[in-house]
Amino acid sequence: MNFDVFVIGGGSGGVRASRKLAAAGLKVGLAEEYRLGGTCVIRGCVPKKLFVYASEFSATFQDAVGFGWPEVSSNHRYQLLKRAKDKEIARLESLYDGLLERHGVITFASRAKLLDKNTIQCGNETIAAKHIIIATGGTPFIPPIPGNEHLQSSNEVFEWDNLPDRIAIIGGGYIAIEFAQIFLGLGASTSLIFRTAPLLRGFDDDIRVSVTETAKSRGLDMKNTTVEEITKKADGLHLKLKTGETLIVDAVVAATGRSANTSNLGLDKAGVTLGKRGEIIVDKQSKTNVDGIYAVGDCTARMELTPVAIREANELVSHILGGPSNPVDYDSVPTAVFCQPPAAAVGMTEQDCVKKGIDFTVYQAKFRPMKNTLAGRDEKALLKLIVETKGEKVLGIHMHGPDAPEIIQSLAVAITAGLTKKSLDDTIALHPSTAEEFVLMSTPRS
Ligand code: NDP
Repeated sequence: MNFDVFVIGGGSGGVRASRKLAAAGLKVGLAEEYRLGGTCVIRGCVPKKLFVYASEFSATFQDAVGFGWPEVSSNHRYQLLKRAKDKEIARLESLYDGLLERHGVITFASRAKLLDKNTIQCGNETIAAKHIIIATGGTPFIPPIPGNEHLQSSNEVFEWDNLPDRIAIIGGGYIAIEFAQIFLGLGASTSLIFRTAPLLRGFDDDIRVSVTETAKSRGLDMKNTTVEEITKKADGLHLKLKTGETLIVDAVVAATGRSANTSNLGLDKAGVTLGKRGEIIVDKQSKTNVDGIYAVGDCTARMELTPVAIREANELVSHILGGPSNPVDYDSVPTAVFCQPPAAAVGMTEQDCVKKGIDFTVYQAKFRPMKNTLAGRDEKALLKLIVETKGEKVLGIHMHGPDAPEIIQSLAVAITAGLTKKSLDDTIALHPSTAEEFVLMSTPRS
C-alpha cells in the first residue's frame, strides 16, 4: 500500500495531523494499536477530569451545610462512576473514529514499526509512505524500587472496578496531586509520598506552597520522603519509607513522570536521532534528522500537554502542505493542575525571572473567596502577577483557587496579545468575583 502520509499513533497530535492532511486531499493512513483518542481521551485528561468532578462533591456537601442544606451522609458508589466514565470514553472514541473516517483517513488497528525511512510494517501490511509522522505519546515511568512489580500507574487506575480502601501515591507532580485528591474525595484513605517539597516543581513557589498546604488541610496524609521497598503481605502492601516508617496500603500508584513512547518502533532502522530520555529530537516544525520523518506530541518531550501536541500537529501540517509557518510559542502555554481547588498558570514564574536576571515587580493577593465564608472553609485563593518593571509587560500570571483554569485561560489570551499592567488597571472589575482581583492589584508586593 502507498500513502502520501502515514501517522503512527491515534492520540491528540496524530488524529489532528492525519485528518487535516486528508482534508487537504492527501492519501493518509494512521495506525493505532490500542484505542483512538490516545492518553488524553482514553486514560488521561478526560477521565481524570470526570473523576475530579465526582470527587469534588464530598467537599461541596460539607460546604452546603453553611448555606442551610442538611448534612449529607453518603458513600460513593465507585462502580457507577466507572461505568459512566467507560461509556463516555467509548462515546468519545467513536467520535474520533467517525472523524477520521469522514475525512478519508485509512486506520489500522495494529502496531506499526518502521523498516526504513519510507517503509512501515503494520500488522501483515507493508506500507510505503512519502511522509511519516510519529505521534506515539508517552508512557508512565516506573521507578526502580525493590518490589516495583506491585506499582500501578495512571493507566491501570482508570481500569479499577473498585476503589481500594487504602491507597498510596508516589510523586509530587500533576498526576500525583490530582489523583491523591480524587481518591481522598471519593472516600479512600490516601497518602501522598513525595520526595521534593513543596509539590509541583516547576510552578511558581508561592503556588506550590499554597497547593501543598491546602492539600494537607483537606486531610490528605502527606509524607515528604521516599519509598525504599514494597513487600506484599497478608494484610496489604508494606511500603518501607526512608523515615523508617512502614505504611500498609491496598494499592500503590506511581505518578513519577512519563517517558517518550519510542522503543521498539524501528526508529533506529530509519536512522532517527533520539535524546537521552528516548525522546525524538525535532526542530520547530517537528522535523526529525531524517528527511520525511516528523514527530509531534509527548514522544518529543517538548511540553507534555494535549493542546501543545495539537498545535505542533497544526504547524507540521502547514509545513507539509507548504503553508505559512506559525511555530508554537512554548513560553505562553497556559497549564492547570486539577487539584482541589485547582491551580493554573501562564508565563514566567518569579523564580524564572530571578534566574534570567529580569527586573520585575510582583503583585500578589491572598484572600478568602466569598463562597468560603458561609461554608466555613478556611482556605484562601492566591493570585499573582509578575510584571517586567520597565514597560510593565505582564510576564506571568499564577493562581491557586476556585476556577483558576477557567480564569487563566482567558488571561492567556491577553498575555499572548502582549498584556501590560496598565491594561489590567484600565479594565473594570467584574464584581463580585475572585478574578476581579487581577484588575484591582495596585500595590506591588514588598
Ligand atoms: P511530573 O513530571 O509532573 O512529576 C513527576 C513527579 O514524580 C515529580 O514530583 C518528581 O519529583 C517525582 N519523581 C520522579 N521520579 C521519582 C522517583 N524515582 N521517586 C520519587 N519521586 C519521583 O509527572 P506526572 O507523572 O505527574 O505527569 C507527567 C506529565 O503529564 C506532566 O509533566 C504534565 O506535562 C502532563 N500532565 C498534565 C496534566 C494537566 O494538564 N492537568 C495532568 C497530568 C499530567 P521531583 O520533583 O523531585 O523530580
